Amino acid sequence: MSLWECPVCHGTYRDPQADGTRYFHQCPPLSTAELLAMPAADVAALFPELPAPFTADDLLVASTARSVPRVGARNENIVRDAPKRVVTEGAAPSEDDSPRVQDQPPRILKGP
Ligand SMILES: [Zn+2]
Repeated sequence: MSLWECPVCHGTYRDPQADGTRYFHQCPPLSTAELLAMPAADVAALFPELPAPFTADDLLVASTARSVPRVGARNENIVRDAPKRVVTEGAAPSEDDSPRVQDQPPRILKGP
């Protein structure tokens, strides 16, 4: 049951879990507290429906209605039906070039 840290959201988790099953981490969306810590202009760009200036309560309502994924979010879950990526040297990137588990920053071992 090693303790791991996600290098993106800094969440910690045990894998395998106490019951022996594997844990596949997925970064949560930005929390209201994280959004409040951001510059107001960046928040207004993410939530154009907010009044100017907005209050913490306005942001709580908006962020509850619509979540904002964090940049570089990790997802260790395998997408069964994802199309196989075919990389052709010199070819332009396609929409199939979405990050795969093996392309994400590795989790950090924090302890046994
Ligand atoms: Zn994470």
